[in-house]
Amino acid sequence: MILVVVAHADGRVGRSTFGLIAAARQIGRSGPVTALVLGSGVAGVATEIAPYVDQVLVADREELAQYDPQVWAAAVAQIAHEGEADTILLTASRSGRESSARVAVKLDAALLEDVVSVVDRQGALVAERYSCLARVTERIEALSPVVVVSVKPGIFAAAEPTGAEPGEQYDVELAVPPARVRVTGKVRYATDRIALADADVVVSGGRGVGDAAGFERLVVGLADQLGAAVGATRAVVDAGWRPYSEQVGQTGKTVQPKVYIAVGISGAVQHLSGMNKSRLIVAINKDSEAPIFRVCDFGIVGNVESVVPAMIEQIAAARLSRAGS
Ligand SMILES: Cc1cc2nc3c(=O)[nH]c(=O)nc-3n(C[C@H](O)[C@H](O)[C@H](O)COP(=O)(O)OP(=O)(O)OC[C@H]3O[C@@H](n4cnc5c(N)ncnc54)[C@H](O)[C@@H]3O)c2cc1C
Repeated sequence: MILVVVAHADGRVGRSTFGLIAAARQIGRSGPVTALVLGSGVAGVATEIAPYVDQVLVADREELAQYDPQVWAAAVAQIAHEGEADTILLTASRSGRESSARVAVKLDAALLEDVVSVVDRQGALVAERYSCLARVTERIEALSPVVVVSVKPGIFAAAEPTGAEPGEQYDVELAVPPARVRVTGKVRYATDRIALADADVVVSGGRGVGDAAGFERLVVGLADQLGAAVGATRAVVDAGWRPYSEQVGQTGKTVQPKVYIAVGISGAVQHLSGMNKSRLIVAINKDSEAPIFRVCDFGIVGNVESVVPAMIEQIAAARLSRAGS
């Protein structure tokens, strides 16, 4: 059995989980692809994921209302052990990385961490992951029969429904250990803008936009016209122009939108590792030798101060004429 631990928030399945299911199918091990839904009041999550998998295991318990790596790991390990899962997949988000290591220890299993590909080669799981600031892609092989795999978010394209009947749902019994940590407060930063991980179009800005005001005017301005998510380089985040939540790259988010527009970004390898799987990459940079031009599909050599306002103007005019017709 391949066990896929479902990430969810606000009663919806997280987008990264559909990538996990794609990874589970790519592995090609025998046994049902099984979704595991942990939480409290998660019936809707179980129903949403059912069409994508062969079966769904649901642990709907009050004690699981709040994510806790220790409790979560114990639950995943127990269910994996009882269900004789040979492969356990989690998203390599912060919380997924926290619990995957614990699950691996509990199951005495190999841990393939933050992988970007994974397949079964004659019974052994072989995966790839980035190392050395994403300059190197390592191939790693699990040497144990049971393997825990955390998958880098945004790498695998979302799985489609199986097309068969939705997977059968089963409630599972759990011996949940008492939590050792309590969450005493939570502040949520509300934004109307589409999340980076969910966006079809991402407009990202780099140091080439000049300053925080330039970023707002050019990058956010272009994103507004396109209904796109906003991304940034680490240089921009380090300068305090934008929040870390918008950072794209090796130490930020990995995105794979239909269109990625890089505004004033040099294309350092650490940035590229977070966006180079985008379907179409458009780059605007005044330096024709900038490395971003080696990975883009369309490149504009020019000053962002003249190119981007012209783009905004053209798009706004096209939208207006479409609205009028
Ligand atoms: C361990 C580690 C992890 C890292 N993780 C990340 C990460 O997750 N994400 C990330 O992005 N970086 C990361 N970095 C940093 C990375 O190495 C680069 O420093 C960073 O991506 C550069 O950002 P930038 O392209 O905005 O700036 P720069 O490299 O300074 O590039 C600015 C570009 O703008 C162009 N430009 C300037 N003015 C204009 C103009 N008026 N019009 C048009 N073009 C203009 C320039 O030609 C230049 O190419 C990491 C580094 C390390 C060491």
